[in-house]
Amino acid sequence: MTFRVLAGLAAALTLAAPVAAQETTPRWAFAIHGGAGVIERADLSPEQDAAYRASLSRALEAGAAILRDGGSSLDAIQAAIQIMEDDPLFNAGRGAVFTAEGRNELDAAVMNGRDLSAGAVAGLTTTRHPIAAARAVMENSPHVMLIGQGADTFAASQGLEQVDPSYFFTERRWRGLENFLRERNLPIPSRPAGAPAAGMASLEPAPPLNERKFGTVGAVALDQSGTLAAGTSTGGTTGKRWGRVGDVPVLGAGTYASNRDGCAVSATGDGEFYIRATVARDICTRIAAGASSEDAGQAEVDDALSLGGYGGVIVVDGNGVPGFAMTTSGMYRGAVTSSEPARVAIYADEQ
Ligand code: ASP
Repeated sequence: MTFRVLAGLAAALTLAAPVAAQETTPRWAFAIHGGAGVIERADLSPEQDAAYRASLSRALEAGAAILRDGGSSLDAIQAAIQIMEDDPLFNAGRGAVFTAEGRNELDAAVMNGRDLSAGAVAGLTTTRHPIAAARAVMENSPHVMLIGQGADTFAASQGLEQVDPSYFFTERRWRGLENFLRERNLPIPSRPAGAPAAGMASLEPAPPLNERKFGTVGAVALDQSGTLAAGTSTGGTTGKRWGRVGDVPVLGAGTYASNRDGCAVSATGDGEFYIRATVARDICTRIAAGASSEDAGQAEVDDALSLGGYGGVIVVDGNGVPGFAMTTSGMYRGAVTSSEPARVAIYADEQ
């Protein structure tokens, strides 16, 4: 899929980093997503549409600046994802969806394609930036995946910022939980300790009418040393129960990167299906066999859909070619390379 170029942003980036006219293979590449789902033009007001695009552009540029300066793909991914974790528009970090018990339980993963090292966390409740915790697991622990309180304790021991669980609260996601539980005749828990009083709701932007979307965030990158990396961060799915964990921290499902295969993948969608379809790993297998990043991505999201799961993926291949694929009407997304200006898009049909 090609995208409409945002002329203003492209001009700004061109000023910051002149593009070599003769460059054919990008020296670096970067792509992000902010979740896929039923995102129709009628769902977003012009202000909401603009807010999402501005937010995506900010995260995209944060990662691009690092790659342009010769920084690592891991640093680029972490910088962009932390911005989106701090942004209540997305279902990651602050703004995460709620469990049926009225808690925010956060999952994240990161993978380094150079040596297939990886770190994942699930069910965090106090670590402000779950992606930083995943990276600390990868770099400073003998393990690959940590869960629950132990994962938060490890993150704190690594000096990562801890917050009161109410930090993650947003009125919009609370109302999403209330609607979800009401539709299923499930009990609605009391508002979490430390959450603002219900009357403060009007201070937050109104949610899009249709909440059937995911809002997970992710990033994939190729840096100038040729290293691919992928990262993903999420609050999971509204109303999840019993310690549910989705595809995001399951390596090979929602997140995967391999220099050997020449791919980095971050997914968003119905985690239960993305796990079973091993979406991210299979995209890498397809790319290693010669498929383009976009064709490999589309084949795998279609495969997940054949099981019943909707969603989308972002991919960067070893040649720095970004690809996007989805089985939904939209995915918040953006891409930039050393030879192509930044572009962001929301709806599936955007050129
Ligand atoms: N894939 C995530 C999960 O199942 C949800 C999302 O993409 O927003 O946890």
